[in-house]
Amino acid sequence: MRLKSIELAGFKSFAKKTQLEFASAVTSIVGPNGSGKSNVAESFRFVLGEQSMKSMRGRRGEDMIWNGSATVPRAGRASVKLIFDNSDRALKLDFDEVAIERVVNRDGSNDYLLNGSSVRLRDIAELLSQANIGASGHHIISQGEADRVLSSSARERREMIEDGLGLTAFLYKKVEAKRKLQKTAENMREVEALRRELAPHLRFLGGQVKKIEESQKLRDDLADKYLEYLKRESVYLRTQEALVGEDFAAPKHEHDELTQRIVYLRGELSKKQDDAGTTELVSLESEARAVASRRDNIVRDIGRIEGEIAAHERITVVTKSSIPTEQVRTFTQHIEQGLNEALMLEGVLIKEKLSTLVLAVKDFFGQLVQATVQAAHSPEELQAKKQGFEGELSTLQVEEARIVAATAALRKKIESEKDANRDGERELFTAMARRSELQTTLAALQAAKDTLLREREQFKAELAEAGALLGRAAVGYEEVELKSVHGEPVSDADIVDEPRQMQEDRRRKVERMKIKLEEIGAGNAAEVLREHQETAERDQFLMRELEDLEASAASLHQLIDELTETLEVRFTEGIEKINTQFDAFFKLMFGGGTAELAIVKEVRLPGRSLASADDADEVSEDAVDKEEGKTEEGIEIAISLPHKRIKGLHMLSGGERALTSIALIFAMSQVNPPPFLILDETDAALDEANSRRYGDMISSLASRSQLILITHNRETMSRAGILYGITMGGDGVSKLLSVKFEEAVAVAK
Ligand code: ATP
Repeated sequence: MRLKSIELAGFKSFAKKTQLEFASAVTSIVGPNGSGKSNVAESFRFVLGEQSMKSMRGRRGEDMIWNGSATVPRAGRASVKLIFDNSDRALKLDFDEVAIERVVNRDGSNDYLLNGSSVRLRDIAELLSQANIGASGHHIISQGEADRVLSSSARERREMIEDGLGLTAFLYKKVEAKRKLQKTAENMREVEALRRELAPHLRFLGGQVKKIEESQKLRDDLADKYLEYLKRESVYLRTQEALVGEDFAAPKHEHDELTQRIVYLRGELSKKQDDAGTTELVSLESEARAVASRRDNIVRDIGRIEGEIAAHERITVVTKSSIPTEQVRTFTQHIEQGLNEALMLEGVLIKEKLSTLVLAVKDFFGQLVQATVQAAHSPEELQAKKQGFEGELSTLQVEEARIVAATAALRKKIESEKDANRDGERELFTAMARRSELQTTLAALQAAKDTLLREREQFKAELAEAGALLGRAAVGYEEVELKSVHGEPVSDADIVDEPRQMQEDRRRKVERMKIKLEEIGAGNAAEVLREHQETAERDQFLMRELEDLEASAASLHQLIDELTETLEVRFTEGIEKINTQFDAFFKLMFGGGTAELAIVKEVRLPGRSLASADDADEVSEDAVDKEEGKTEEGIEIAISLPHKRIKGLHMLSGGERALTSIALIFAMSQVNPPPFLILDETDAALDEANSRRYGDMISSLASRSQLILITHNRETMSRAGILYGITMGGDGVSKLLSVKFEEAVAVAK
């Protein structure tokens, strides 16, 4: 990589666009004081990204812009463009020429351009660090700055040396790795916080899921128990219903037959009681009453006749007309006898008729005799009449006796008939008792049937509820194969035979399970399960992310360790190499003595930054390094001059300091040569002899780095391939001109 040119426009005193080409290994810039030479050196710092305005002799960005003069108006912006020949690809960009440009505006804003494209300062810093052009500017030694390497702190010195050794790229990587680590740690904290946030919800959902599982298990249990209950109930009801039907048949039949029989018996009994000899008895009684009345009449008649006879005896009138009366009487007696004989025959009605007839005949003949007697009024007639009555009376008496006998016989007959009825009544009573027994049985059966009906209704309701609860599974209860506790199949008979209480216990248990299931109230199971799964997945995702972050943190730690190790090794090796060169240059400058860099531990001071940058994402190593401890390594310089007992830097003369710092700067440049080295009047304090030695060193350095030397020194000028003169006229504008050696010597003076 070779420095081709630099172009300044509006930068400080370079109001007009000015280009310096660096075709030679050594370029010297000469000119009178205040012409703008140092502004050129500062333009290099500026374009390479220097952030410290102080190091460019300004207070703010605006101070870099041409500020105008009496004749030339001020500029709006300052720009510096550095052009490298990148044919060797030392800068890792696929361009033969790389142009780096920085622009500062009046408002203080900066633009960085890489081959015309806007980039970040950081991009430029990283790109340049690849070519050993660090931000510390160790390769640009400003006027009076050579001493800086001696006067700075051990830590600052270390920074310069690290930069000089080309370790900046590793430092950048380390800073980047730490920045990433910090970001990773932040992400891990965020992910952990998210997981912590998620945890209670996940726990809650876990509990819900457990509940759902429990309730599912309970539901399964319930289904088993429910189906067993339904199966048993169904078998029981079916069997019992059939049995009740059968049980009804026989008693019902018997009951109905008995009822018929009872009706019949009742009819029979009431009929017999109605006509058992009563009519005959009534007729006998009326016959008895007729006979008694006739007898009373006859007794009365006899009394009347006896009265008449008594009267006749007093008047003694007797008539002898009693013959026909005698004949009538004989005939009457004859008829009577016949009739009475007829009466003795069977036939109630005939007897009645005959009795009436007998009485009528007797009455007729009695009256006939009486009429004859009365007509005759004879005592004989009366006597005959009386005899007639008496005869009739005795007949009536016989008749009465017969009626009494007949009545008695009839009553007896009735009594015996009543006895016969009593058997019928007994049967009736037995039938009624049996019937009432059957009614009780039937009522009990009916009650059982009612109970079964009720149970059947209850079963239907239970079935509906089971359907609602278990869904289709409830339908299959009939197919359930029941097993006893010993694993034997349970038959229908077993089911019917077991005490009903056991089934009732089963029903209660099912009820209790239903209630428990309701209490658990798993809610919307599907939704909870889904949410739980989603949450668990999210948690898993976060866990994996955390693992990834941990893995990347671990690999970052490893990278940092490796970089630290590399830096350590390279730094230690670099210091050794520098020391060899430093000691050699020192001996050359002073004609003897020793010089050495030593690594020392130094208490760390705050505020160090690897590359002070205005980019927002720029992270100083400090921010990451805080935890690494309070001490860090720095560099001390140990020298001893020949023939003098001087050990400390502070005891050196101005010239000695200049020689020492030049020796160190050159030593660093030898170990890790930068592409270019700018030395602004570093040689100012050298006497003639040392100027020569300086010139020799320049020549040797030029083989490895391009050199731009701002100088008033003749010896130094003589080593340059190109000489630029810078002048400033009355307009305050720096002007560039190529000059010959002799002109240069003249200009420099
Ligand atoms: P010496 O040989 O004495 O070190 P030099 O050649 O290095 O001098 P510089 O220090 O580079 O000179 O130039 C300083 C000049 O630049 C001053 O005259 C100063 O006024 C001018 N200058 C600095 N900044 C600006 C600016 N922003 N606008 C105009 N002129 C500026």
